[in-house]
Amino acid sequence: MKKNILLIMTGGTISMRKMGNLGVVPSSELAEFLKQFPQLEGVANVEVMDYLNIPSPYMSPEMMFSLAKLIDTKILAYDGVVVTHGTDTLEESAFLADLVLTTRKPVVFTAAMRSGGDLGLDGPRNIIGSVRVASHPESFDKGVLVVMNDEIHTARDVVKSDTGKVDAFTSPGLGPLGIVDPDIVVYHRNSLYRENVWTEALDTRVDLIKAVSGIDGKYIDCSIDHDARAIVIEAFGRGNLPKDLIPHIKKALSRDIVIVIASRTHTGRVLPEYGYEGGGKNLSDMGAILAGDLKGIKVRLKLMALFGKYNDPVLVKRFFSQSQNQV
Ligand code: ASP
Repeated sequence: MKKNILLIMTGGTISMRKMGNLGVVPSSELAEFLKQFPQLEGVANVEVMDYLNIPSPYMSPEMMFSLAKLIDTKILAYDGVVVTHGTDTLEESAFLADLVLTTRKPVVFTAAMRSGGDLGLDGPRNIIGSVRVASHPESFDKGVLVVMNDEIHTARDVVKSDTGKVDAFTSPGLGPLGIVDPDIVVYHRNSLYRENVWTEALDTRVDLIKAVSGIDGKYIDCSIDHDARAIVIEAFGRGNLPKDLIPHIKKALSRDIVIVIASRTHTGRVLPEYGYEGGGKNLSDMGAILAGDLKGIKVRLKLMALFGKYNDPVLVKRFFSQSQNQV
């Protein structure tokens, strides 16, 4: 029996078209087009919801949270949900949804690297692939999935790793969960990481700072002055920082601001390995949390959800550490 899938449109290149001198801009064509898209007919009963039509750099955490809540409510009446989204912030929206959704039904995010009118459009193919994945029995209870370029990724691990290619979405060091072949959907593996923060609120006072050589403590001070509840620092390698930042980090910790160390390196975990001033062990001894292999932009969203739920740095630290793959 054909499954009932809700397709929620939010915008992005998949909903855009090149308009002469204006460049690539949002267009209202996709919603109309999808209503009569013949290839969708045989796959599932698809209803289209024209929710938003914005470039995804306009997406804020609050909007991502509202989208997740919408999915959680709407999915009660469907077998699965597909969300079309801009590629620029897709990994953030999909990850936040993965954290806060209570449903175990399939939820699939997809997008396009090419806008309407381009040669070799990837959008329609990605939509069909996503509807097929959302309709597939093995997609149940896998967390939020991202389908792009005939590949299935988890929201937790996927990153946009290229600015222009159709195979821009990858899960570095891990590879996709499966593929969407013309005949069947094939799952090769499961992800062992499942994290949920079932919250009714988000606290967005979480900043992300990327370490660069010679970085100045003024960015940490700025976060302190602007009432950050947590600061994520994308440190070097295993989680190391220059020692000049230590007084600033200590100042933040003394004010109960949660400091979380992620890595600016593409793959691998941060570890309490180096004991020199500013090294990962030194930071950990000082009270900073090490974020395992979770990337900075996702650590930031997770802390927003945790502060929204617990509103208490001690509980946030406890729950954050518990769910990380850290030592
Ligand atoms: N700038 C676009 C967006 O994220 C890029 C895309 O969708 O591919 O909305």
